[in-house]
Amino acid sequence: MRWERVSWWAGNGNGHGNGKGNEAGPSSLKEQREEERELSRAGGPSRCNSQHGCRIVNRRCNTTTIISSSSSSSRRRRRSTWTLRGGSRAWASQSAVICVGLCLLLLVTASTAQRKASLEKRFERLKNLSLIPALGDPARFVDHRDRTSLLSRILIPRVPESAGSKKVLDALKEPFEALNKDAKSLGWHVQTLPFETKTPHGNKKMTNLVITKNPASPRRLTLAAHYDSKVLPRGFLGATDSAAPCAIIVDTAIALDAALDKAERRYAKEGKGKGSDVTLQLIFFDGEEAYGQWTHTDSIYGSKDLASNWTRSAHSPPHAPPVGAARLSQARFASERPVRSIDTIEHLVLLDLLGASHPQIPPYFPGTSWLNTRLSEAQKRLQQELLFWPPNQTPNRHDEKWFGGHAWGGIEDDHLPFLANGVPILHLIPTPFPAVWHTMKDDASALDYGTNYGWTMLMRLFVAEYLNLAAADLEQAPRANRQREEVREELLERQVQQGQRIEMGRLNAETEAEAEAHKAQPLRARDVDDLTLFG
Ligand SMILES: [Zn+2]
Repeated sequence: MRWERVSWWAGNGNGHGNGKGNEAGPSSLKEQREEERELSRAGGPSRCNSQHGCRIVNRRCNTTTIISSSSSSSRRRRRSTWTLRGGSRAWASQSAVICVGLCLLLLVTASTAQRKASLEKRFERLKNLSLIPALGDPARFVDHRDRTSLLSRILIPRVPESAGSKKVLDALKEPFEALNKDAKSLGWHVQTLPFETKTPHGNKKMTNLVITKNPASPRRLTLAAHYDSKVLPRGFLGATDSAAPCAIIVDTAIALDAALDKAERRYAKEGKGKGSDVTLQLIFFDGEEAYGQWTHTDSIYGSKDLASNWTRSAHSPPHAPPVGAARLSQARFASERPVRSIDTIEHLVLLDLLGASHPQIPPYFPGTSWLNTRLSEAQKRLQQELLFWPPNQTPNRHDEKWFGGHAWGGIEDDHLPFLANGVPILHLIPTPFPAVWHTMKDDASALDYGTNYGWTMLMRLFVAEYLNLAAADLEQAPRANRQREEVREELLERQVQQGQRIEMGRLNAETEAEAEAHKAQPLRARDVDDLTLFG
């Protein structure tokens, strides 16, 4: 992804960034400054005060700058300045445009407020927060110091079409396919969606991965991240970009799996309830990174393909394989009328550039800023209960705040083709980007286990509350993780008894032998037909 001063969907291709996130680079800053000076002499709007000291301006200023900077000759500049000063006819038409704009804004605000109110009503705060870490130790997915963890296994170059890409795709599917073989689990609908696309390096075959709890459900809370890595620099690992976000998403789904099943069975038995028609969906995009310099054509190949397919296909339940709870759920949704597949996404939550310590996530979209607030509150609640950080973390991090601040400019990322089709977006990407962004330093050394642990707790709680999972749904021992967990707990206990300081790194080294013995069980490569996996 990259910073964009002018939004992609506004059709302007010349982004000026803050230097850090801008591959295109400022093309004519000097000229722009000159134009602004002239505008301000003419009584036109002045540049906003960016406290970052960078060249990013706010959206209001963007609009103004587009008017002036679209002309490069001084004659055309003078003409646009004249327009801003206004003749009477121009003023009348501008007033009309402003009136229509205000009316539209009021309508949009009213419908957003209504939608927010009904969604917010669905959220119920979980009282017993200790249920969240009890869903399982996230280390097996997000601990980069553990060689057997999912994060370690996907922390390899994974350029589209490469052997690494195939390996990572298999590793991401494995935990879900393991559940699909478990008779007690309702399983997940796993779809590998291959496509071919034109790139500056010729035609390339890529694959998106979509995993859905109940595919018959007419609405989804969709968590997404990209799993590919950059072609250059050669050997680029992309630990924060986006191996860690992928691992966080997998942990969230697997940790909540048993609770989701319990809720599915409950809804099927009791009929419709609050949030009963919303299911959890995960998307792992391929081809987010550009082959050369980032442009609108050379980037986000996976999300463009998926969004385009989902705008051209209808979601028309019942269509789920008639097995397990899916059969019961089909009956629940049978009266829903067909909609475009893309419209089943209630919110797209896109995680990117996460895993380094001290992320700062501002709200990027006014329509979903209330979800940022929910996350911020969730972080505070978990911290107050001392459940946010790993059990052995030093107490001086207990008041770290990750949410808030202001988004300067826009960011180009996988959400854009969905945003353009009206999908509400919650973009979880830090501002500023991690210092290692798009460098060889974005490897395991850029990651902080405490931060990744915090992200898993946060996402589990957020998703559980969003989907209105009851405390009774969450009260159960995790199936897949139990054995490994018992070994860890035993060792932790032994160390506590011996009065030793517990360090996860050392603990991992000590449990390596045990981990070796267990790794073959939940995370084993399997050849399963992707299309018939629900149940
Ligand atoms: Zn990137």
